[in-house]
Amino acid sequence: MKQAWGRCGLIVVLLALCCFVLWLAAGPAIALAVLSVILLALLARHWRNLIALARWLRDPAPETVPQSSGLWDEAFAALHRMLRYQRQSESRLSATLVRFQEAAAAMPDGVVILDDADRVQWCNPKAEEHFGLDRRRDTGQHITYLVRQPEFGGYLRAENYGEPLVMKPARGADLTLSVQLVPYGEGRKLVISHDVTQLERVETVRRDFVANVSHELRTPLTVLAGFLETMAGMPRLDNDMARRALPLMMDQARRMQRLVEDLLTLSRLEGAGNPLHEERVDVPGLARALYRDALALSAGRHRIRLELDYDGWLLGNEEELRSAFSNLVSNAIRYTPQAGEITLAWVRRGEDAVFAVEDGGIGIEPQHIPRLTERFYRVDRSRSRETGGTGLGLAIVKHVLARHQARLEIASGPGRGSRFGAVFPAQRLLAPVTPIDSAKKTA
Ligand code: ADP
Repeated sequence: MKQAWGRCGLIVVLLALCCFVLWLAAGPAIALAVLSVILLALLARHWRNLIALARWLRDPAPETVPQSSGLWDEAFAALHRMLRYQRQSESRLSATLVRFQEAAAAMPDGVVILDDADRVQWCNPKAEEHFGLDRRRDTGQHITYLVRQPEFGGYLRAENYGEPLVMKPARGADLTLSVQLVPYGEGRKLVISHDVTQLERVETVRRDFVANVSHELRTPLTVLAGFLETMAGMPRLDNDMARRALPLMMDQARRMQRLVEDLLTLSRLEGAGNPLHEERVDVPGLARALYRDALALSAGRHRIRLELDYDGWLLGNEEELRSAFSNLVSNAIRYTPQAGEITLAWVRRGEDAVFAVEDGGIGIEPQHIPRLTERFYRVDRSRSRETGGTGLGLAIVKHVLARHQARLEIASGPGRGSRFGAVFPAQRLLAPVTPIDSAKKTA
């Protein structure tokens, strides 16, 4: 390029020199006339090159770059190089894209890419199969127009994508999907769907088995416990051995009955065909009833307090909530030594509301806390048995809370007591219904 500019400068200097010599030899008129002719010729050349460039720009291709000489040739050659480089990067990019699409198509999971307004940008064939999408037709559509299950809409809006959503898509009644949303970039999301039909089937068989066994055991146990009670109530029990054995047998029969009842409760809570029956739950009223139960259960062995700082109600199922809260209360009583303090509280915390049970009991070492809600997980097996525990109480609490989009918070330490808090999100909270409100409703 520098050379071309040098040549150009030389021509201008030569031209100026010629004109000067002509001026001196033939006068200014001839010099100006010759200069004009030369300039016109130069202009015509530039004009022709410009037209060639404009024509080429309409459909640029490296093979058809115009040819010229001097500076124009340099510029055309630079254009040619740029275009070739661009074509090479384009073909490298499209090869990468093809490889990515082939890899995504071979994936056993469905992948949908959503833009920052939750519109479909791209999806792989597995996602088309899972959600009944068509990439060509559905690109640019909002995902909730295409995946219409309310639980999916709720999952998308809740913006809490820690846990996957297990759902049945509209098409393929036999299909069960685990759907995970992964946010990335600026407001974009990946929807990853995994077929868990087989796993769900195994899980259903397991659930049904436990439910059926528990159900089958219930009646014989009731009969056994009934007869044992009758025998224990007999005024004259001759056999010494029978007198000692009967209370033990009754204890064990009752324990088994509690176990069977807890297993049946868990099966009901887990059952896919058992949606939450929602009603307005008067939590302050429920807390007062639980407080009275706690006083009866403790039989004066503990100092029990009730704190009602919030008068709000909940949208949920009263029976399930009562079962969950009473498990927390009975645990506090069972794991708090005599004269210990226990507090039941219903309080507002920011947007959320918390039902908390705090005790000054034996506490729990930190390594056990993450596992407490597993079935049959006990910190101290013998203590749990002695106090009549089944090892299923906190598993029931976890399931009930999950069905109410609530979570369980546990703060505890050995020797400094425990605090179990059921945290309910704002969308579950309701204004209290006063007797006047309910009268208006029925009027
Ligand atoms: P369990 O019937 O054994 O009490 P849970 O599922 O209710 O079963 O509780 C699981 C374990 O968590 C218990 O065995 C006990 O070790 C521990 N735990 C629960 N609540 C408390 C509490 N308030 N204080 C101390 N430990 C507790």
